[in-house]
Amino acid sequence: MPSLHQIKQDIVHVCQRLYQRSMVSSNEGNVSVRYSENRLIVTPTGMSKGFLKVTDLVETDMSGKPLKKGQKASSEIKIHIRAYEKRPDVRAAVHAHPVTATGYAVAGVPFNECVLPEIVLTLGKVPIVPYGTPSTDELPDALEPYLAEHDAFLLANHGALALGADVIQAYHKMESLEHAAKIVLVSRLMGEPNLLSRKEVDRLLDIRERYNLSGASPGCDIYGKQDLASRIYGSTKPGAAGSGESSSDEEDLRSLVERITREVLRKLDS
Ligand SMILES: [Zn+2]
Repeated sequence: MPSLHQIKQDIVHVCQRLYQRSMVSSNEGNVSVRYSENRLIVTPTGMSKGFLKVTDLVETDMSGKPLKKGQKASSEIKIHIRAYEKRPDVRAAVHAHPVTATGYAVAGVPFNECVLPEIVLTLGKVPIVPYGTPSTDELPDALEPYLAEHDAFLLANHGALALGADVIQAYHKMESLEHAAKIVLVSRLMGEPNLLSRKEVDRLLDIRERYNLSGASPGCDIYGKQDLASRIYGSTKPGAAGSGESSSDEEDLRSLVERITREVLRKLDS
């Protein structure tokens, strides 16, 4: 267990990186560490993360109340506290507004396709948490159902949240989320992203389990054919995505291709 001073230095370092990498602007974002059962170290309200010093950090109890008079913890500390309450394995939380990932959250586009090994191995499926007014209980309440199975979250019309066993790990999840979001966005601009096959995803999930790469997150949605079908036909085929058997998936894909071919031929005829 690192010293309290080391933990504070790590938080300041993470805040500087968030600011330098444009994952926050002005006074946005907040970072916390649970350094004992009843104590948190939290970034203060109303301060830029790019200029934060170790002495600016606020020590609070588990309700977010500062131990020292005159200090004020981040107004969004409630989402961090809810994560610590529901996930004892979580010891750090990073909340930011990274441009590309937040773009997904604003557009309501799920970030759950199996397109990159890093997403499957480290982030897993990233849910969109429904919108809640910042600093109220709405957001922690909306987040709670997703906490058991995920470490990274898009917050609708707001930003992103990443959890970890320490603040460096939580930061890396935030950085990976934004980096992957940029890659997927660029691939979408170039056309339809190619998805990893079910076989490749299964191999990655095996590696994940073997090396215990993440405590939460069930992985991305295996194969996005359901999305593809809905985009083409305007409706979804129940049970197509992530339903289990690869042979039935291949049949689904074959019948989908046949339907598209028939559709194209019918249009050419008319
Ligand atoms: Zn925020």
